[in-house]
Amino acid sequence: MNGRIIRLAGKDARIETSGWTIQTEAGALPPDGDIIVPMSVWLQNVDALTARNGRIGVWLAPAEDPGALKDAFAGLSLIAIQFPKFTDGRGYSIAALLRRRYGWTGEIRAIGDVLRDQLFYMARAGFDSFALAEGRDIEAAMDGFKDFSVVYQDSSDGKAPALRTRAQAVRDAKIIRAAKLLAHIAEQHPSAALASSLSAEDMVLTDLIARNALPIHIFTLQTGRLHEETLGMIGKTKARYGIDIEPIQPVAAAVEAHVSAHGDYAFYDSLELRKACCGIRKVEPLNRALKGRTAWITGQRRDQSVTRTTLHEEEHDADRGIAKFNPLADWTWDDVLAYAAAHDVPLNPLHARGYPSIGCEPCTRAIRPGEDPRAGRWWWEQSDSKECGLHTHTDEQPSLESVS
Ligand code: SF4
Repeated sequence: MNGRIIRLAGKDARIETSGWTIQTEAGALPPDGDIIVPMSVWLQNVDALTARNGRIGVWLAPAEDPGALKDAFAGLSLIAIQFPKFTDGRGYSIAALLRRRYGWTGEIRAIGDVLRDQLFYMARAGFDSFALAEGRDIEAAMDGFKDFSVVYQDSSDGKAPALRTRAQAVRDAKIIRAAKLLAHIAEQHPSAALASSLSAEDMVLTDLIARNALPIHIFTLQTGRLHEETLGMIGKTKARYGIDIEPIQPVAAAVEAHVSAHGDYAFYDSLELRKACCGIRKVEPLNRALKGRTAWITGQRRDQSVTRTTLHEEEHDADRGIAKFNPLADWTWDDVLAYAAAHDVPLNPLHARGYPSIGCEPCTRAIRPGEDPRAGRWWWEQSDSKECGLHTHTDEQPSLESVS
């Protein structure tokens, strides 16, 4: 193979002269010079071949197992894969295995019946040099790498598939929009506060607030029935962002009176008693925390439940007479997790144990695969009653021109 080859380095392809000699069968080796031997010859003669003066490569036939080489890469400069006929696709799999399973980072050369129209796909599989079949026009073949500008599958070349690129662009736009909305809130409503449940959505909002140094207060309702893991998020937030989350407690006398009249677990007995408990432990403390503020912020999303499908980014909270913002209204659960992973956001460990939505310990369970994300909240009730009184929605949407 002392003819010309195409070498690919990143996006650049060039033609160069190959100095390699291919040995097609076992037999006497030339005493020096760069030589490509059959894989079996290499595996049986590693010491003798590495003692020669010159670089060593091996070539594999399509039926050979590249795994046999995985412990014998040391001393090799090149691996060639033979295509006896252009219709034989096994060489693509060999190249992909060498790159992705066995970690070969050196040159992989396509040899044999190699045609222009295969080059784009070979490059994607991991080949980076190409010895074209006899009689093929090597200059004209250079265009073969430009056959497609978009790819749809993952491969060894690291190019992002089109659908993933598009999904990332959509996610980036959501992040920018949420950050702009938070900045708008901070400017228009200096008293605005984030009511954090310490769940993933609210941790994402906390990260956006911290990342953009926004003067937005954060509080959480300490109902007295939260999981230890949830309470632990207050310290994790302080450690990660230096932010103190204000704990808002229920009125102790009201809690005591409710418990002594109805017991510790009255919420299981009726919707009325459940709402009474939520009223004492959540709604009254929230109203107190929002007193004097002109706006509040939540981590609610539309796809969390049937009660939130019409959620807007901005609402008028008629009960409290103030503005209410849901900057993650159009985010999916995957958007939330992707943001958290990309920005190292601390998350409540319960999420990883099957709790997409987290509330008080006795009123929240893990969900089963395929269940609605809020199926674990007050699971003994109808899905259309599953709100605690903190959130009542309107279909009215005030203008958001300032953040579009
Ligand atoms: S979620 Fe359960 S424990 Fe918590 S306030 Fe509501 S009813 Fe009470």
